[in-house]
Amino acid sequence: MKKNDVILIASLLIICAISLLAIKLWQKQSTTDKSYVRVEVDGKVYGTYPLNEERTEKIQFENGSYNVLVIKDGKADITEASCPDQICVRHMPIHYSDESIVCLPNKLTVTVVGGQENEIDATTN
Ligand SMILES: [Zn+2]
Repeated sequence: MKKNDVILIASLLIICAISLLAIKLWQKQSTTDKSYVRVEVDGKVYGTYPLNEERTEKIQFENGSYNVLVIKDGKADITEASCPDQICVRHMPIHYSDESIVCLPNKLTVTVVGGQENEIDATTN
């Protein structure tokens, strides 16, 4: 092999590797970036939070009640709330598209937007 051939092959391999990496990164981002949770209070959008970022958000209401929204491992969960029934706290973490946690006493709704398709529940419903 000539020296030029080696350089050509080497650069082709490098281009290949870079584009593969770029595609992988792009795929990873496109699947995780699009899903988020939408928090609504009394029918109004309070905020939206991406599911791929870990965070703890305390949603505080004027009357002193609150819900603590925790996003972890791509799932959203209410870990703490001031409501008497605690139904929202007992709810499993959500990550499927259109899945939601509702806190009736606080008029709070947490809904997954653009998450995984809920194939298991679709058949049982
Ligand atoms: Zn609640």
